[in-house]
Amino acid sequence: MLMTGTPLLAVANKHNFAVPAFNISDWAMSQGIFEVSEAKGAPLIIAIHPDELVHTGIDLMPAIVQRAHKSSVPVAIHLDHGTTYEQILIAIQNGFTSVMIDGSMLPFDENVALTKRAVEAAHAVGLSVEGELGTIGKTDGEAEDGTQVIVYTDPDDAVRFIQETGVDSLAIAIGTCHGIYPSWMKPEIKLDLLQAIKAKVDIPLVLHGGSSNPDFEIGESVKLGINKINISSDIKVSYHQKMREVLLDEGLREPLSIQPPCVEAMQVTAEQKIVLFEAAGKASLY
Ligand SMILES: [Zn+2]
Repeated sequence: MLMTGTPLLAVANKHNFAVPAFNISDWAMSQGIFEVSEAKGAPLIIAIHPDELVHTGIDLMPAIVQRAHKSSVPVAIHLDHGTTYEQILIAIQNGFTSVMIDGSMLPFDENVALTKRAVEAAHAVGLSVEGELGTIGKTDGEAEDGTQVIVYTDPDDAVRFIQETGVDSLAIAIGTCHGIYPSWMKPEIKLDLLQAIKAKVDIPLVLHGGSSNPDFEIGESVKLGINKINISSDIKVSYHQKMREVLLDEGLREPLSIQPPCVEAMQVTAEQKIVLFEAAGKASLY
């Protein structure tokens, strides 16, 4: 069941769970994520970053759309971290049902202007839009976006941003980073700040950079009102760690021999996230 982000996240907001947004970069990952979400009865967001779209090629999109239509769970296909108006138009044209416009690196007024423009285009064709306010950290060169310093989201700014842009959901900066944390870095989510924002804002809130935060913090953030959590690094690490292991057998050649155990390893991690986000079984609420 393919749908837009707004009804998908409205149920999560009402019933207090978070929909996992898994970033996929190839067809095998995509298939594996659909399967594990269906096995767990969990609503799903297939997230594709513009860099991932470059890697897969835009021609993979019809297959993903088709797979989502056939799925037994509600699915949104979401552009992760669109940064330009043109990327939003490309997403609209290619079957995405939800887009993110990330102007968080811009000054507040420029972020508002860019986001508003994206909202006008996406809403005109019935798609939902996620904006971002505050900056999420970045831990390594492989991480998709972010800065060295986290700028926390101010609750009053969040209210004004939502009013001025008309976004359907908002990514907030409360202490997470993109990527995997190095050993010296201790991730910490400001749960009090999340509560302060949630008290003032009624649209669904989104957490980026949720990979490798302690499960306790992520679980608490779900209880306190996060409705979508992006997971990219954690599933990719599981997928490729297993691939390194499998490829030690130099006799293997066929992707059909190599990829399935890697997909299974990725699914174990994805399943843990689904359970942690309290999304298991929630497809029945739609
Ligand atoms: Zn992100």
